[in-house]
Amino acid sequence: MEDCIFCQIIAGEIPSDIVYEDEEILAFRDIHPAAPVHVLFIPKKHFANLGEAAPEDQALLGRMLLVIGQEAVKLGLTEGYRIVSNFGVSAGQTVGHFHLHLLGGRYMGALC
Ligand code: 5GP
Ligand code: ZN
Repeated sequence: MEDCIFCQIIAGEIPSDIVYEDEEILAFRDIHPAAPVHVLFIPKKHFANLGEAAPEDQALLGRMLLVIGQEAVKLGLTEGYRIVSNFGVSAGQTVGHFHLHLLGGRYMGALC
């Protein structure tokens, strides 16, 4: 999508600090990190959120979690990490392209 920041990152039109890429998934460091390690994992296929995901996205969504697990080890997150996805305005979603936040490298307390 033309006006989507993350699609522009995928296209290389906006520079990013890429940590992982394959044919379906891109991962890059968040521009405003909330933890020492803060990486965004996105599908290269544009959909806004899980509500817009289609049945054929099942394998892609599952593989995103497997990739995060593998990359978390490479990023040195041996003490643990958190995966977050904000869905919609009330959850604070600011970019309308589905993404999973990988956060780690500091102690994180209860969610709420
Ligand atoms: P959300 O608030 O939608 O869950 O997360 C969007 C995230 O994207 C935010 O943490 C924000 O810092 C990050 N972000 C927004 N624009 C850019 C950008 O142009 N480059 C990078 N690397 N991260 C971005
Ligand atoms: Zn997009």
